[in-house]
Amino acid sequence: MKLNLGSIEYNLMMKDPVETFTDKEKPDEDCVIAGLIVPFRAELYVSPKFEEQVKAQSFWHEVVHGIMDEIGRRDLYDDEGFTEAVAKQLYLLHKNNSVKKIYDYIGADKCLKS
Ligand SMILES: [Zn+2]
Repeated sequence: MKLNLGSIEYNLMMKDPVETFTDKEKPDEDCVIAGLIVPFRAELYVSPKFEEQVKAQSFWHEVVHGIMDEIGRRDLYDDEGFTEAVAKQLYLLHKNNSVKKIYDYIGADKCLKS
């Protein structure tokens, strides 16, 4: 499906990102990769192999990488600690609240894509 992230229309795919790696790029077997974003190809992968919570957190993790790429902050794009910290907050914000209800309450419902 399509995902608009900043100025880029990403192709969001439910596919194990490791399958896209060349043999040279393949990570060690004990390395867990649940998501991947490739801004120059406008691709965002979420692996279908994991449980729902991991898939959702991986999605937000890759979104934060994408945002940092979009705003030209390569230093933060490469900072996994920063990326994971912000991603967890976005995941929890969406897990614990209904953005639609909030927007309805504050009178900003037209700002939410249906
Ligand atoms: Zn990352």
